Amino acid sequence: MVPKYVYFFGGGKADGNAEMKNLLGGKGANIAEMTNLGIPVPAGFTITTEICTHYYENKGKYPDQLKQEVEESLRRLEEIMERKFGDPENPLLVSVRSGAASSMPGMMDTVLNLGLNDQTVLSVAKATQDERFAYDCYRRFVAMYGDVVLGLKPELKDEIDPFDEIIEELREKRGVEFDNQLPASDLKDLVERYKVLIRERKSIEFPQDPKEQLWGAISAVFKSWNNPRAIAYRELNDIPSDMGTAVSIQAMVFGNMGDDSGTGVAFTRNPATGQNVFYGEYLINAQGEDVVAGIRTPQPINKSQKSEESTGLSLEETMPEIYKELDRIRLVLDKHYRDMQDIEFTIEKGRLWMLQTRNGKRTGFASFKIAVDMVREGILTKEEALMRVNPEQLNQLLRPTFDPKAKEEAIKDKTFVAKGLNAGPGAATGRVVFNAPDAEEWAKRGEKVILVRLETSPEDIRGMHASQGILTARGGMTSHAALVGRQMGKVCIVGCNVLEIDYQKRRMVVGDRVIKEGHWLSLDGTTGEVFVDQIPTRHSQILRVLIDKSLAPEKSQIYQDYVALLSWADEFRRLGVWTNADQPNQAEEALAFGAEGIGLVRTEHMFFEGDRIDVVREMILADDKEGRERALARLLPMQKEDFKGIFRVMKERPVTIRTLDPPLHEFLPHEDKDIQKLAIEMGVSLDRLHTKVQSLHESNPMLGHRGCRLGIVYPEITAMQARAVMEAACEVKKEGVDVHPEIMIPLVGHVAELKNQRKVVDDTAQEVMHRYGVKVDYRVGTMIEIPRGALTADRVAREAEFFSFGTNDLTQTVYGISRDDAAKFLYDYLNAKIWEHDPFERLDQLGVGQLMEVGVKKGRATKPNLKIGICGEHGGEPSSIDFCHRIGLDYVSCSPYRVPVARLAAAQAAIRERNNRKG
Ligand code: PEP
Ligand code: MG
Repeated sequence: MVPKYVYFFGGGKADGNAEMKNLLGGKGANIAEMTNLGIPVPAGFTITTEICTHYYENKGKYPDQLKQEVEESLRRLEEIMERKFGDPENPLLVSVRSGAASSMPGMMDTVLNLGLNDQTVLSVAKATQDERFAYDCYRRFVAMYGDVVLGLKPELKDEIDPFDEIIEELREKRGVEFDNQLPASDLKDLVERYKVLIRERKSIEFPQDPKEQLWGAISAVFKSWNNPRAIAYRELNDIPSDMGTAVSIQAMVFGNMGDDSGTGVAFTRNPATGQNVFYGEYLINAQGEDVVAGIRTPQPINKSQKSEESTGLSLEETMPEIYKELDRIRLVLDKHYRDMQDIEFTIEKGRLWMLQTRNGKRTGFASFKIAVDMVREGILTKEEALMRVNPEQLNQLLRPTFDPKAKEEAIKDKTFVAKGLNAGPGAATGRVVFNAPDAEEWAKRGEKVILVRLETSPEDIRGMHASQGILTARGGMTSHAALVGRQMGKVCIVGCNVLEIDYQKRRMVVGDRVIKEGHWLSLDGTTGEVFVDQIPTRHSQILRVLIDKSLAPEKSQIYQDYVALLSWADEFRRLGVWTNADQPNQAEEALAFGAEGIGLVRTEHMFFEGDRIDVVREMILADDKEGRERALARLLPMQKEDFKGIFRVMKERPVTIRTLDPPLHEFLPHEDKDIQKLAIEMGVSLDRLHTKVQSLHESNPMLGHRGCRLGIVYPEITAMQARAVMEAACEVKKEGVDVHPEIMIPLVGHVAELKNQRKVVDDTAQEVMHRYGVKVDYRVGTMIEIPRGALTADRVAREAEFFSFGTNDLTQTVYGISRDDAAKFLYDYLNAKIWEHDPFERLDQLGVGQLMEVGVKKGRATKPNLKIGICGEHGGEPSSIDFCHRIGLDYVSCSPYRVPVARLAAAQAAIRERNNRKG
């Protein structure tokens, strides 16, 4: 079969449909779908992503057949539009737009008004009887073509766009604020000045031949697939680099044809809060890029969205009929796609055209609310809703807001300086920087920064990522800053018009205040308020309900939605979700988030409380067993109290307590003055203590005397800890709580190590239970965290009642990389694409995962019902959780604040598995 490279749409019929995103890109596929739904879409055609791949594989060449297919589609388009491309009398103008399968908003290029030249502009002026309009289109086209196709862009980070510079100068000269106030003669003049700029800077003439323009634009769009910002965006969003973009060529419709025209961007629901209300912005007499680029601040689409500050009229007021039609289309699309849509439209002389629809980016809040609401509205099933919410976005629900008292103080102190649009909710505080590279650099140094820009562009995304919050002087709720900031979950305020930003001087002026680079700034992304202050933050609504108990559950809709979604997650997940907690209050928090057990108590963390460290040091530095036992006897009651506290909180749920693990040097003083102090406390000479400290020095402590090796050399340590656990368990059981301690031996590589330690634990446990006359259902198990442990898991399982994968150490030992030193070359590895992800953050399923699979298989070959979990950091990371589900673990254990993320990720893993099975 001859391959088809071009898909036509128009006249109520399309070759493609929404299912064909891989081939037609999201934009092309959805334009086709809208056409088939009978929604008014300007006709056109889409060149497939296969051509993009071909273009890159063949050094910028196209298959022979493409030219013919494009020509044929152009002819069909000319027929429908009753205009001819390049015709001096009746010219057809087109847009050339990028569109990949995964939406990459604003990252690739677009050219509008293509087909204009010195001839056709005259006939457009004649046909529309509007010279101003014709030259407005022409000057936009020349600038866009110069930028996108000919590569005329700012070269330095403080430089402004060369085309903008010319128009700004002209605006200033004329004393007008906006481009649409410039007369036709000025626009005509601009075209000529732009052409000169191109000639001077690029040594080429702006092409007059529309076909040359078209193929130039098509190639530029394909090239833009690999521009630095698109590459950066794909990296940040895990989009594969070999998918390519499609190119859609579409008849132009004009929003800049006068006051009965306009253009806008809208969401079928509110993308910040998720509320089911039509939400968007528009500009009268403007072209699409004016809204997104934030050059003029757009007006709200309807009355309900107008705030006290907004002065202009909404679309609902200026064009009620159009608004009604648009609202009808929004409902059709929202329901048809079963998801919130982000739509673009243009009104040309009182006629509405839809240019795009795609699933809209949204905040974590909105993502949640829309998913939950759509189940309640009968649009989605629970499974579908669960799959819609990105588990990482759940973190946004837990994010802080400003402490209201501190904020009130800030207002009283007159540090409130401005109000913008509340594009990304949450509270952020940091120091001002005025460009993205600085944001990145400062953040690398550990500074918290707020990125302040006139408006952001896709080039800024890395800097945005590195910032706590983003503030722009221009743009609306659908500007680049707002869209991207929201998706990143950043606190974001846009359209803060009162800021006078001076990039070169690295400062901004607000009223009579000068705010320089490095000043503290606080942003309330929920209200849009900006403060020159460092305002302390406070817990989110969910935390206030669950943890502080300062908010009644029924008073918080967010909390109720959170509970609904997570209770559905619990219906579907198979994995248990436990937590890593060392303190009763941490255990309490984790329980509030839904933890079902404790997968890891790092007992050594308890050794640092108060002045316990002195006793620990005494124990470590003692010369003999008696000395150690004396110190251990003092530690025993302290550990016991800790365990009792945790048991009382966790009640009947399992609590996994690990015996001492870290290398002993971690507890020792290294500074002379601390060693001196300890010598006095212990009543030994400084010299002796120095010698002792030195003798404990290890060249590679992570592979030295740590883990079960400590307990084997010093069994009295394990015995003390086992005694503390069992005495605590017996005492709490006597209080009427049926406790289930699980004692876990770390760093086991040989079954004999576990056997040795298990005997110490069992002997102690028997003695304690006998003494108390209480029977406690306790278990002894091991961590699997070094390769030999996994490889010999069948033997290890003989002595273990459970396994828990310590993937932090397992990653360290499988890679042979010290987890404390990896950061030194981590970024180089990621940049060089040697690693796709940090393996300490995201489980390396291929390598480390393989050992886990071996561990599970061999462990269960010995004991088919062996309980197996994970307590490394990966236990709270969604892709690793999915893996744990697939290899049949019983539970994941993660830090308390990751518990909600893990519950959702575990449900998604189960649903994904079911969906895959269904095929
Ligand atoms: C692990 O190694 O994965 C683990 C949980 O233990 P730690 O991080 O305390 O070494
Ligand atoms: Mg470990």
